[in-house]
Amino acid sequence: MAFCSIFCPRIPVRFRPKPISPFLSKPLFPLSYRVCSSLQPTPSTKDELGSVSIGFLGMGIMGSPMAQNLLKAGCDVTVWNRTKSKCDPLVGLGAKYKSSPEEVTATCDLTFAMLADPESAIDVACGKNGAVSGISSGKGYVDVSTVDAASSMLISKQIKDTGALFLEAPVSGSKKPAEDGQLIFLTAGDKLLYGKAAPFLDIMGKSRFYLGDVGNGAAMKLVVNMIMGSMMASFAEGILLSQKVGLDPNVLVEVVSQGAINAPMYSLKGPSMIKSVYPTAFPLKHQQKDMRLALGLAESVSQSTPIAAAANELYKVARSYGLSDEDFSAVIEALKAARSQQS
Ligand code: NAP
Repeated sequence: MAFCSIFCPRIPVRFRPKPISPFLSKPLFPLSYRVCSSLQPTPSTKDELGSVSIGFLGMGIMGSPMAQNLLKAGCDVTVWNRTKSKCDPLVGLGAKYKSSPEEVTATCDLTFAMLADPESAIDVACGKNGAVSGISSGKGYVDVSTVDAASSMLISKQIKDTGALFLEAPVSGSKKPAEDGQLIFLTAGDKLLYGKAAPFLDIMGKSRFYLGDVGNGAAMKLVVNMIMGSMMASFAEGILLSQKVGLDPNVLVEVVSQGAINAPMYSLKGPSMIKSVYPTAFPLKHQQKDMRLALGLAESVSQSTPIAAAANELYKVARSYGLSDEDFSAVIEALKAARSQQS
């Protein structure tokens, strides 16, 4: 095991939250976060980073650039993906390839997984030739996929039963932040592994939050994406309404960008939505999955979420129109379809 002691001083901000789900019956740890502007990770040199062998499972829109950033930083990276060809660019850059998650965890100290949804995250971790079969005491598994708390807990248990450590670390940020190493990690689980993984999280991201017990990172991510999904659905309605009443939607985007409701997402996605093009950064199917999981989380604590529920219906309509693999901003097409049915 090549890990050395890599805890580094933090600027802690502590507050005591209420449990956020019946899944989370134990008292939560005090939460802490750190915005990593000037990092002092250990290991920090290329040689030190390269002494920890890193596995990466899942070479999708997010996993590929994340693994690439680890490689560029001098890490020793081994990759696997269900569709093998997606590993080729990484292998071309110097990554090693293994033909199963089991082989990756058997040969690597620390393995990251970036899979589509709860089903694939569980299958890759716990299924046949999965990560659990290869991992063992002294190693770590960091699941950065967006899943629900129950799935994360299931994976955590199976990993920890082998003696290995588990951290959930879903990310906030999309394709470009993944390429730029500007992701935000929402971590929870083994604090020891959080410390050991920190230098690598800091290569892939700009900040990281440690949120306590497994399930809290998943829940935080789902709340964030529930807000985002509702914002996008509302923005799509606004664009179409502005057009229908004879306004220039480009001016709407500009007005929004200068006011208090500005969000980078609007300026980033608005112009292409007006042109009806949706280059995929965050697939619509994943946004709808996150709305579904967030609604499940809300249901588990009897929290009313009518706005998110309505937005979820819109994403479901968009999926039924074959827009699953388009960017989530293509949700506007579901509204256009509704508009043309009315007229
Ligand atoms: P993606 O491009 O669709 O990649 C999904 C990955 O999961 C691929 O490697 C895919 O393998 C793999 N996969 C899917 N089903 C599988 C199965 N049954 N067994 C094994 N592997 C399977 O998605 P992404 O955009 O990278 O997102 C990955 C995760 O990050 C999702 O949970 C998403 O919600 C989350 N996320 C995405 C963004 C974003 O902006 N894109 C931002 C934050 C978080 P194949 O190549 O073989 O299909």
